[in-house]
Amino acid sequence: MSTTVYTNAKLFDGKNNTVTTDAWFVVENETGKLTEVGSNQAPTDSQQIVDLKGQYVMPGLINCHTHITMDPQSGDGGLGTDEIELTVRAVDNLHDLLASGVTYIRECGSAFDIDIRLNELRKEGKIDHTPEIMTSGRPYSMTGGHGDLGHFAHLVDSPDEMRKAVRTGLKKGTQSVKVMATGGVMTPGDFMTDPQLSVEEMQTAVIEAHHKGRIIAAHAEGNPGIMNAIKAGVDSIEHGFYVTDEEADLMIEQGTYLTPTFVADWAIPEYGRGSMPDWEIKKAADALDDLYANIMQAWKRGVKVTLGTDAGTPFNDFTMTPVELELMVQQGATPFEAMQTSSQNAATLMGIQDEYGTLEAGKFADFLVLDSNPLEDIKAVQQKDKAVYKKGVRMY
Ligand SMILES: [Zn+2]
Repeated sequence: MSTTVYTNAKLFDGKNNTVTTDAWFVVENETGKLTEVGSNQAPTDSQQIVDLKGQYVMPGLINCHTHITMDPQSGDGGLGTDEIELTVRAVDNLHDLLASGVTYIRECGSAFDIDIRLNELRKEGKIDHTPEIMTSGRPYSMTGGHGDLGHFAHLVDSPDEMRKAVRTGLKKGTQSVKVMATGGVMTPGDFMTDPQLSVEEMQTAVIEAHHKGRIIAAHAEGNPGIMNAIKAGVDSIEHGFYVTDEEADLMIEQGTYLTPTFVADWAIPEYGRGSMPDWEIKKAADALDDLYANIMQAWKRGVKVTLGTDAGTPFNDFTMTPVELELMVQQGATPFEAMQTSSQNAATLMGIQDEYGTLEAGKFADFLVLDSNPLEDIKAVQQKDKAVYKKGVRMY
């Protein structure tokens, strides 16, 4: 077995709130896994030695909420009906994600089930320089609900229709089911406070996903839809902008994760001025103050938070994952707490924590190399020319 030893690093392993100086780690080249992590006295028996020259090493980011077939510059997701165009776009978006430091994603809704096919091609080695993908395929919505486009969502209107549709998705290769519990911002005539899929419909999806050992996420921005999704037993609430104390307590009891997607709302007033109507900008800016307060309250109460960006929504491109970390810190999380959302918490939600999320022996060598210390200043992760390693291979 050939190995590579990386020496002279300042290591943040994703697990402990500290940077180890003079750290080293050994990667088995065939598997891309870490075999040893230590400090001082690096082993000298490796064929290859990489001197990291005192730079900072941290785990690759896991982004739990992306839409790789969407176009952030289009204003409405750009989900036209040209499958070839969307496929080419999805590959570009995957490249941007990896270059920005994201080594694993959980998709949350892909037109034409494109993520499933791309993931097969990725595993066959036919596309590269992408993060690993936990696929969702098309999400599940109701007739007239959020994302109501035939090639984007499965439209279901009863528990029986849900059962059939989810089984069909799982057969095709869905690894994480996505259901729409409320309306949202991007579909005309549908609002955050609209409850959509019923508790019974979502419960059916939860049962089918869990029978297959898969996870399930619910798009839930307002009430009463957030409560409906929690009652149905989903594994994560996506957005959760108007989460209440009562809902937070139930989530803590059930172990339900919350993915705030701050950057999706932040990007609209930040970049939309001039190209979007003023009332729409104002609506997003007003909502932002509320959602920051509600989510930080739930977080402080003890809800487990995961990082997701909703990449693909207006002005929210595929390089923004490190900005989500910055927004979390701006709102009161410590850099360590923020980084746990994209390392341990994300890996645990996705059930991949034995091999991903932190830099420890036995896990994959998915890591970033930075010039400055992310535990001191979270903006360190935004470095444009950072090095990104996937399974021990430098990708960017
Ligand atoms: Zn989304």
